[in-house]
Amino acid sequence: MKNLTALGVHPALRGFPGMVLELRRDGVVVESNGRLERELERGVVGHPLGSVLDGPSRRKLDAILARQPRPEATDGFVPAQAWELMLEGRDTVAPHSFFPVWDEEGDHLYLVESPRDPRFDALYEELAAVNSEQANTQRQLAKEKSRLARALGELERELKENERLSRTLQGQNEEMEAQNEELLAMTEELHAGQEQLLSSNHQLERRTRELQIALSARNRFYAAMSHELRTPINAVMGYNDLLLAEVYGTLSEQQELAVERSQRAARHLRELVNDVLDISRLESGRAEVEPEPVDVARLVDEIFDTLRPLAAHAGSDMRRLSGDDVGTVVTDPLRLRQILLNLLSNALKYGAGAPVWVHLAWAGTGRLVVEVTDGGPGIAEEDLGRIFDEFVQLGREENTETAGREGTGLGLSIARRLATALGGTLEAASTLGVGSTFRLTLPASPSRAE
Ligand code: ADP
Repeated sequence: MKNLTALGVHPALRGFPGMVLELRRDGVVVESNGRLERELERGVVGHPLGSVLDGPSRRKLDAILARQPRPEATDGFVPAQAWELMLEGRDTVAPHSFFPVWDEEGDHLYLVESPRDPRFDALYEELAAVNSEQANTQRQLAKEKSRLARALGELERELKENERLSRTLQGQNEEMEAQNEELLAMTEELHAGQEQLLSSNHQLERRTRELQIALSARNRFYAAMSHELRTPINAVMGYNDLLLAEVYGTLSEQQELAVERSQRAARHLRELVNDVLDISRLESGRAEVEPEPVDVARLVDEIFDTLRPLAAHAGSDMRRLSGDDVGTVVTDPLRLRQILLNLLSNALKYGAGAPVWVHLAWAGTGRLVVEVTDGGPGIAEEDLGRIFDEFVQLGREENTETAGREGTGLGLSIARRLATALGGTLEAASTLGVGSTFRLTLPASPSRAE
């Protein structure tokens, strides 16, 4: 026998009266304490134990050998189990109970007979309990160990993840700090820009106020001057008329020419003063508009009558080519008359004797269109935009001599402002050598003005 004590078998087993056998994994008996030999009356060492057992006992032994426990889980012990082996052909012999114990490596099985001695029962039970408890503890320990290993692994992983996260966070933090600084700089820049804007805004507001004051002063000045100028001009013209009517005696031919020239100059001056007065009124928004239904075709024909002498002088023929059916628009007749009078007299003045036509029609947009067309020399493309500016007289800019000049350069400017005041528009189109068309549009009524 070897190892039994080393395996932790109870010392009480020493001098054991029952059978003790040591088996290899293949079931061959390698040691025996001689009790079995005595029972069988022959040697068993070197023979498989199965060969001396009956069928069911052999199968039990095979099962035990096959169910070799994992030594690391049980530390060499199997749970105690009473196990009976019947010897072959020895029915008369009482069955033997064995207690199987594996050695540490798990390749030797010790079979210790459990004698039918009640003194040992308690011992076996105690051993069995100790063994099973030990095995349980071993299993739990193993479980706990692997659980701990798992937890440790998990902890390590978490630690690494935490480190990685903390590195990332640090990086992000640095990035954010940089962004923050950038933002701060930008905010300061914005602040400076805002202050600059605020101060230029203040400056602009001041300039606007100054300009408004200057503009209204200018308009007041124009209005006052025009009024003050009109009275003496009327007096001059009145005296000229009396002179020409020879109320103060007969005029020589030379004197008559001189008075006529003075009269023309006075008339021009009055025209200029009237236009300036008009412009200042329109600019200051003091131009009253008094709308009423106006038969535009009839108005055009009336203006033709007024301009008949001028047309005769120019050698032009004036004609209204359409518009008998356009009916009325609700607008200020005096203002409309002023616009059309200007457009038609311009067509006669600058039309070089070519015919002048007027077209009247409703446009699809519900607006009345009045077109004044002449077959005159036309206006160059680059001049079309500026003829509506104040004091623009094409081809006369270089001539500063006002005496004897026709027109004031204010007519179209006034006409366009009047058109706007009536809720309409005034545009010009022209082709050099072919003629010009001035296009006035008017809303059907002031409430429909855009
Ligand atoms: P005025 O007739 O008093 O000079 P306007 O403002 O009425 O001033 O016209 C400005 C200028 O536009 C005129 O001096 C003239 O040179 C040009 N103009 C106006 N109407 C015509 C036209 N039908 N054909 C050619 N030129 C024109």
